[in-house]
Amino acid sequence: MVSRHFLGRYLGQEKGPLLVAIGAMHGNEPAGVKGIELILKMLEVEPITHPEFIFRGRFIGILGNPVAYQRRMRFIDVDMNRHWQVSRIRQQIQQPEQPKLVEERAILNVLHLIHEEIRNYQPTEVVLLDLHTTSSTGGIFSIAGDDPTSQNLAVELPAPVILGLADELKGTLLQYVKSIKLDVPVRTISFEAGHHTDPLSVNRCIAALTCCMRAIGCVGQNDVESQHMRVLLDQAEGLPKLTRLVYRHSIRPEDQFVMQPNYSNFKIIRQGEIIAHDSKGAVPSPFDGRILLPLYQKQGDDGFFIVQDIPV
Ligand SMILES: [Zn+2]
Repeated sequence: MVSRHFLGRYLGQEKGPLLVAIGAMHGNEPAGVKGIELILKMLEVEPITHPEFIFRGRFIGILGNPVAYQRRMRFIDVDMNRHWQVSRIRQQIQQPEQPKLVEERAILNVLHLIHEEIRNYQPTEVVLLDLHTTSSTGGIFSIAGDDPTSQNLAVELPAPVILGLADELKGTLLQYVKSIKLDVPVRTISFEAGHHTDPLSVNRCIAALTCCMRAIGCVGQNDVESQHMRVLLDQAEGLPKLTRLVYRHSIRPEDQFVMQPNYSNFKIIRQGEIIAHDSKGAVPSPFDGRILLPLYQKQGDDGFFIVQDIPV
């Protein structure tokens, strides 16, 4: 039986890396799934339009959270991208019965798919590209796993790279992969492609996938449609190439946190500026910097983040 998480696979003619793309780890973020489905179609027709086309490696597309995706909710029981805890997952893999929480089952299924693929293919390396979108507008960015090889890959995407965020967010896929030992080198990137409902977020996911395929040597510089790259470049224009996280404002439901309107990713903010309200009153910014991921949806534990530019 084909897994509900399986979106498709492309087998290259030559041996190489395994690129694993994950969409909708948050169910209300459909752009990644659509991007993966479209790039699979584009890869199918590429050898017909360009007979000299060679794909080095293998590509697999995975739907992170099919149950939440169907209901267009960020999650059902727990936030899937804050729930990749090594010890719990290790325990649950040993148990014969399925975990109770929807997202815990989804994590085990996704891991099963990835491990099967690695076992069957024996790639030269594994690259995980986790595709997301945001509830705020303005700006795209990537978060690299906390290792220089992942960061070098993130810099290849024409989008700002946020350093330090991978460490700050607990229980992400990026953190999980860093903590486990695989027999093969692994690089991990999360890519935020724009607003949840912006149709161009799909194009940006395609562009991120194409860029990634080029950077890791699956395809040549001129293979696969380059028109999508334009939307990535347009959106990244004027944004800093490299930034570092300096603050995370975590929230709980009882805080009754509400963002002030009209904040978008990378908007410059000043120390003391009132950027939200909660049950205790006004929430001023503790730093100068740029706001990231201001919360404009009901579900989530992060009110906002602040990053500062790193000169390059
Ligand atoms: Zn997300």
